[in-house]
Amino acid sequence: MKIHEYQGKQIFREYGMPTPRGFPAMSVDEAVDVAKKLGGKVWVVKAQIHAGGRGKGGGVKVAKSIDEVRQHASRILGMQLKTHQTGPEGQKVRRLLIEEGADIKKETYAGMVVDRGTQKVVLMASSEGGMDIEEVAAKTPEKIRKVFIDPAQGLSDTDADEIALGIGIPQSALAEGRAMFKALYKCFDATDASLAEINPLVLTGDNRVIALDAKLNFDDNALFRHPEEVAMRDLDEEDPLEIEASKYDLNYISLDGNIACMVNGAGLAMATMDTIKLFGGSPANFLDVGGGATAEKVTAAFKIMLSNKKVKAILVNIFGGIMKCDTIATGIVAAAREVKLSVPLVVRMKGTNEDLGKKILKDSGLPIISADNMGDAGKKVVAAVKGKKTKPKPKPKAKPKKRARKAPKKRAKKAKKKKRK
Ligand code: ADP
Ligand code: MG
Repeated sequence: MKIHEYQGKQIFREYGMPTPRGFPAMSVDEAVDVAKKLGGKVWVVKAQIHAGGRGKGGGVKVAKSIDEVRQHASRILGMQLKTHQTGPEGQKVRRLLIEEGADIKKETYAGMVVDRGTQKVVLMASSEGGMDIEEVAAKTPEKIRKVFIDPAQGLSDTDADEIALGIGIPQSALAEGRAMFKALYKCFDATDASLAEINPLVLTGDNRVIALDAKLNFDDNALFRHPEEVAMRDLDEEDPLEIEASKYDLNYISLDGNIACMVNGAGLAMATMDTIKLFGGSPANFLDVGGGATAEKVTAAFKIMLSNKKVKAILVNIFGGIMKCDTIATGIVAAAREVKLSVPLVVRMKGTNEDLGKKILKDSGLPIISADNMGDAGKKVVAAVKGKKTKPKPKPKAKPKKRARKAPKKRAKKAKKKKRK
């Protein structure tokens, strides 16, 4: 789960991490009031969206008077902010953060994630802050310093100091740098974060170390023990289809392609998306309806997939185990009727109550393209998007001779043997 910068900074402050003074604002008038309350001569008006790169996109502006605060706030609030993380359609700005302007001497970077390889939290830091850290990682990876944190010990003073000095924090601000990193780890650990990032972490003119930006993502699997984090969720920032799916306990993630797929089981869903790709198509979503889906859940899943206007065809790939094929079929038929299905639908079903499921689909009179296996399903759905019909299998003219049938089997056996070697 993601939160806004101003919420991240509130949390940082609770852990004793210095940040510029600031408050959120939901309207232009409120932004002006906040600026007056903060006092001073320089303010920064910052768009609050769940994406980075706001500065480059025009979502972070320095104001040198209250009038300028008003101007920037009016322009940024409500704008469709486009950054490299929002996609071309951008994200609408509904909240602002008004904070005091900092006197920046140096911008550095600090981030924390869980490193799967070492099963530890890794602190990454770089002297190259304020810009795309991905670019630094790609072009000059030697400029990123890392330390893997022992969960029993926490971040040691020695490691914290080494990182601080390594990214150019001077000796005179070393204690502050150390305190910042140690607090960041405490915060990461206690909040069950999956990512914590300060970009830029700045050194000010008077040698203070402050977090000028704050990005915190929380591990969804730990949210049950953090109601205070759940309370920070901003549904405006999330994909409406994903929100709708979560109401039905469906695992749904929007993707860029045009072939919707509905599958049971995450592994099968991944394999299905791979199959679509293999035949030159592109999946529009990941959707795992789970093991115990009801017909209502399937109907909801269908509606969610079809609300994506990019979808040109649907592939349903079900393995009937606990989930019965007839349940899925009933859901498909109900949903297809309800939404007046207008795109081709390819269905591949195997397992429990397969015949019953297929009969329900057939009897429905809906123009469903059925597929025998995953490869067949992949081919058919990609062809359907391209508006082509796949060639029906030629019927065998006469009973093939025994020898002719044996030969391919032998070859297959040989190939298997070879593979095993
Ligand atoms: P994003 O990462 O989304 O672009 P940031 O919060 O990092 O947004 O802001 C972008 C840049 O704006 C920073 O690198 C910094 O140079 C400047 N900036 C942000 N907040 C302040 C502030 N309070 N005072 C001065 N400059 C700021
Ligand atoms: Mg930033």
